[in-house]
Amino acid sequence: MGGLASALCFARRGFKHIDVYETASNLGFVGAGIQLAPNMLRILDRLGCWEGSQLQREATMVLETKIVDGPTNTELVQVDLSDVQSKYGYPHCTGHRASLAGGLYEACQKEAGVTFHFGTSLIRVDSFGPGKPKFTVKPRDGDEKTLETDVLIGADGIKSALRYAMLRELKIDAEVEDTGQACYRIMLPREQMEPFPELLALLDAKCAMRWIGEKRHIVAYPISGHTIYNLSTCQPDTNFAAATNATYTTKGDKSAMKKVYDDFCPLVQQMLDMVPEGEVCEWRLRSHKVLSQWTLGSATLLGDACHPTLPHMAQGAAMAIEDAAVLAEVVSLTPGAGTDPEALAKSLRAYELLRKETTWNRVEMAAFSGRTLHLGEGKAKAERDQQFAMAREKGAPVPDKWASPEVQQAIYSHDCMKEAAEKFSELYSSLT
Ligand SMILES: Cc1cc2nc3c(=O)[nH]c(=O)nc-3n(C[C@H](O)[C@H](O)[C@H](O)COP(=O)(O)OP(=O)(O)OC[C@H]3O[C@@H](n4cnc5c(N)ncnc54)[C@H](O)[C@@H]3O)c2cc1C
Repeated sequence: MGGLASALCFARRGFKHIDVYETASNLGFVGAGIQLAPNMLRILDRLGCWEGSQLQREATMVLETKIVDGPTNTELVQVDLSDVQSKYGYPHCTGHRASLAGGLYEACQKEAGVTFHFGTSLIRVDSFGPGKPKFTVKPRDGDEKTLETDVLIGADGIKSALRYAMLRELKIDAEVEDTGQACYRIMLPREQMEPFPELLALLDAKCAMRWIGEKRHIVAYPISGHTIYNLSTCQPDTNFAAATNATYTTKGDKSAMKKVYDDFCPLVQQMLDMVPEGEVCEWRLRSHKVLSQWTLGSATLLGDACHPTLPHMAQGAAMAIEDAAVLAEVVSLTPGAGTDPEALAKSLRAYELLRKETTWNRVEMAAFSGRTLHLGEGKAKAERDQQFAMAREKGAPVPDKWASPEVQQAIYSHDCMKEAAEKFSELYSSLT
């Protein structure tokens, strides 16, 4: 998401030679839904990828969210989201990942300056400077090529090769961390849910659900014009614990999945039962220690490469797209029109300063929400449930940060491009 958004943001700023190297041989995606928060839509709209787009046509509005006790199906709180559009200028929606990526890709293809190199991996950074960064890529069936660029952007996700190279160069020891959590991602088609009125009601509602229980929860919402019900679970990671570090997804075992949620209510059980045998997909949720630095010379990182997050705020892709927009903004404002490596390096540090605190706050909130939602019986859970009751009855703050109107206000109203444009000069001149 961050790579596609970067290519498009740079092209729209008038940059001419934008090469995207992608390990995968095409845009093939693990099918899954994604929440499209207003702060993401604001940028997509400026890129011409929202208003009138396929993504918008298919998008499903989220006008409310309900947090429900998983075992009893009792509602803990309902939060009205119907005023999100009027407050922030964009709605809170859900969509299909393939439509989001496809929309960005199509827009990139219309830009003469963007060239995609699929099936080609970054394998080494040969130089971070002084001067222009040099790096080596390798096509799957071809020979290595060493190249030089004005700006090298690592939008290469949690396993980022650029981050490893940068940290090695900086002699910083910061490894990927296991969160101890994994998730199942499930998509149920309308035909499967239609015969069951309670399930159909979920599919037709403009509502994002969270069923919560000890150490586990399930997020679910309709996507693709209410034709698919998307579920994303979160539970302790047992299956990946012994796997190698390179393993991120695996074919899960249906009976193991059902066992994890066997104390959840019959409605949840019924949906898990519908997952075809052999099509259970489990993802490992990984994180990273806070990086003290994202930028070295004219090379920088964005998205999951520098601030991977648990999905509990539904902001990972949104942050990657925001990073891309800010990066293109600051590079376009750089004195010397991109010809001076030192000026570019300074601009990239300004980008890092603009993004670091904002993104880490969201990463922290996602982790906090996970701990809150996953509490087991005891004093802390009783207090949390009391907070849910206060939120329900008196409009007090919601303990789930993602559903909290106060937190939404901070995130959804944040216009990262405006902030970058306003603060760039001052930040740039403060850097040596
Ligand atoms: C269960 C779950 C639910 C989520 N829900 C949401 C949500 O609702 N809303 C939201 O905003 N976010 C959500 N996210 C987060 C979001 O998916 C990620 O944060 C986002 O995809 C990160 O984008 P990225 O561009 O940084 O990395 P990625 O999307 O991981 O892309 C990295 C790309 O780099 C490529 N690559 C890797 N190494 C190399 C190399 N050496 N050379 C060339 N290419 C390489 C990879 O093939 C990949 O295409 C969710 C995540 C999970 C796990």
